[in-house]
Amino acid sequence: MVQFAKTNFLLSGWICIVLGASISIAVPDAIGLTVSFPLGIAGIILLIIGIRKNPEERVNIDEMRSWQPEEGPMREAGRVMYRVDTLLDPPIKTTIKCGSCGKVDWVDGGKPKSWKCPHCGIQLWEEE
Ligand SMILES: [Zn+2]
Repeated sequence: MVQFAKTNFLLSGWICIVLGASISIAVPDAIGLTVSFPLGIAGIILLIIGIRKNPEERVNIDEMRSWQPEEGPMREAGRVMYRVDTLLDPPIKTTIKCGSCGKVDWVDGGKPKSWKCPHCGIQLWEEE
């Protein structure tokens, strides 16, 4: 996503410059200049934005780690639902969202074999 945005700026910057340059060559009079000049300026500005965006937009690991599903109950046709999300890069942590009370809990490692919600006491799952 970040990479895409940066490439977009760089690409449109180059297109503006190339377009501006070809217009000034193809239409070498005052009209050509009034079109090509702003295009060239816009292209240079876009390029500067594209290059400067790079170091500031690193993916923030801590921000990713602090992400958790929104709290709030979720139910479907009378049965209790839950949501389990596991972070795949170490240290592995798992968030468990209880569909009954809507609370989110963090556990170390992957999905536990069984889970009883500590907030409302409902057994969410149990693997034999
Ligand atoms: Zn619960």
